[in-house]
Amino acid sequence: MEICTTRGELTQALASHHGTRALVMTMGALHEGHASLMRQARQAAEVLIVSIYVNPLQFGPHEDFSAYPRPREADLAVCEAENVDIVFMPTDEQMYPHPPLVRIDPGPMATVLEGATRPGHFAGVLQIVHKVFQLTAPDVAFFGQKDAQQLALIRTMVDDLNMPVEIRAVPIARDDDGLALSSRNTYLSAAQREQALAISAALRAGVVAGQREGTAGAARTAARKYLAHAPGVRVDYVHAVDPQTFAQRDPESTEPTLLVAAAWVGETRLIDNMEVDL
Ligand code: AMP
Repeated sequence: MEICTTRGELTQALASHHGTRALVMTMGALHEGHASLMRQARQAAEVLIVSIYVNPLQFGPHEDFSAYPRPREADLAVCEAENVDIVFMPTDEQMYPHPPLVRIDPGPMATVLEGATRPGHFAGVLQIVHKVFQLTAPDVAFFGQKDAQQLALIRTMVDDLNMPVEIRAVPIARDDDGLALSSRNTYLSAAQREQALAISAALRAGVVAGQREGTAGAARTAARKYLAHAPGVRVDYVHAVDPQTFAQRDPESTEPTLLVAAAWVGETRLIDNMEVDL
C-alpha cells in the first residue's frame, strides 16, 4: 500500500499502478461503513484509491473541524486490511495552496435540509470531490447512502459537468441496534448513544406507517411523532423527499420517497435516512 501526502507522490503512485481505478473518498476515523465502500470498490476495479482528508471547506465556522477525529495509524490499518493500493492523505497546503477563487456552485438542492442548516457545506463538498476526481481520474467512485443528499448532489455534478466517472451508492452500514455508523458517533457518551437510537427507530416507524397507509405524508408524520417524544434528542428536520432532487414530497404522494432526518444528541448532530417503499 502506497501512502501519498503530496499531489506529486500521488501522480507517481498512479503512474506505477495500471488498470481501471476505483475511488473511495473519506474524512478518516474509518469504520465499518467506510470499509464496506472499500470492499465494493475493491471488486469494481484493478486499482483501489482511498482518500483521507478532513476538508476545511465543508465545515461551518462553529462546526467540529478542529475536534474531528484523525486517528492516522488506525485508519491506515483499515486501508491495509481492505487491500487498498493507494492512500491519498494530503495536507491542507497540498489541497488548498491558496483559498480557491473558482468555486463549484451546487445549485438549489444545496439550499435545503443539510444545506439549510449547514450553509456552504455542499459547495465545500463538491469542491473537494471535483478536485480529488481531477487528481485521481477514477473510472468509478463509491459514496455512502448515509449521506444521501451529498450523493444526489455528486451525481448531479457529474451529470451536469459531464465528468467521466461512474458513481455508485453503497447502503448504510448500521450497528446491530440500528444506529447508522458515523465517525461522529465517537462524540457520544454511552447514555447519548442510547438516546441516538431513537433516530433510526423513528425512521423505521415512518417506513412501517408509510407502507401501511401508502403515502409519503403518513411516513413523515409517524417518524416526526416518534422523534418528537424521544428524550435527549433535538430534532433539526424530518422530511419525506424525492430521492433524486430532495424536493419535499406532497403528503398524498405515492412516488418513491426517502425519509430523511437530522437531530442533535447533546452537541452531536447526526443524520440518517431510509427508503419508503410506498
Ligand atoms: P465521511 O468520512 O463521513 O466523509 O464518509 C466518507 C464516505 O463514507 C461517504 O461516502 C459516506 O457516505 C460514507 N459513509 C459514512 N458512513 C457510512 C455508513 N454508515 N454506511 C455507508 N456509508 C457510509
